[in-house]
Amino acid sequence: MSTDKIHDLSTWIESIIQDFLNNPFENLLWPGGPEKAWADALVGYSRGDDPVFASFKEHVGPFHWTPGEAFRLAYPETPVEDRDLTIISWVLPKTEPTKTDNRRETTYPSQRWARTRIFGEEINDRLKQRVVDDLLSEGLAALAPSLLPAWSWQTSEQYGFASTWSERHVAYASGLGTFGLCDGLITANGKAMRAGSVIARIDVPATPRPYTNHRQYCLFYTSRACRACISRCPVDAISENGHDKMKCFNHLAITIAPYVKERFGFEGYGCGLCQTGVPCESGIPVVSAHKYTQPSFLPEEPSRGKP
Ligand code: SF4
Ligand code: SF4
Repeated sequence: MSTDKIHDLSTWIESIIQDFLNNPFENLLWPGGPEKAWADALVGYSRGDDPVFASFKEHVGPFHWTPGEAFRLAYPETPVEDRDLTIISWVLPKTEPTKTDNRRETTYPSQRWARTRIFGEEINDRLKQRVVDDLLSEGLAALAPSLLPAWSWQTSEQYGFASTWSERHVAYASGLGTFGLCDGLITANGKAMRAGSVIARIDVPATPRPYTNHRQYCLFYTSRACRACISRCPVDAISENGHDKMKCFNHLAITIAPYVKERFGFEGYGCGLCQTGVPCESGIPVVSAHKYTQPSFLPEEPSRGKP
């Protein structure tokens, strides 16, 4: 590896991610282009020995991997200490056209949203592989936990559906955001996003977490000043008690999947109504005089529809 790369690993890694997102053959919402699927990424880092990863075993479930456990699945013969590992985490925000389209919807996802959920996620997986491949090409051990064959869905006592590696939790650990009432991660670029990550045996300092609790950016939890995502959900899957994942899943599987197939012509799903037309859609919302400051692009009253 060149001296420059050794001295500025984070700049190099972020350039891999941004170059990929700028590549007109990779980051495409529609076949043939030119519209991008994802806006520019936010990138954060955490350390393999951060106690927050052990805490996920309590909060998510004992099945959730620590970075060391995930690393050893990919490199069973390679001795490694947790402190030798860096977790590279990124947030891929939805684009403005995608958010604008979905803001207008009240029951079903817009086509842009559904395409981003399916084809955009495939792009996210290819980005994970690109970051892994570029690190490997420099002799640095790396893996994408969510691409490991052992990655699986699990059932969390507390949260219902969960997985062995939660990209949103990893993004939280890496200083990129906190959780909202609807379970989405509210980041500096908002909640309309997807996350990805790679673990590498490299030494990049952790990104500071600019929050003291995991719900700090949600106006419901901080001041009861917002319930907009409750109103946006067409099937009452969000309440002041949080997100009913089973109701949400049933809506996606029973109502949305056939709609996407018939209306847009591909196998897919997606919803995201609770991620658009809400004050945390595109940034961290702020309360002013006990009322949130609504960004000018949002409708006066978040709309609501029933299936
Ligand atoms: S819409 Fe309001 S209540 Fe829902 S997650 Fe965002 S800030 Fe919290
Ligand atoms: S909770 Fe689920 S069903 Fe409700 S708006 Fe959000 S994604 Fe859609």
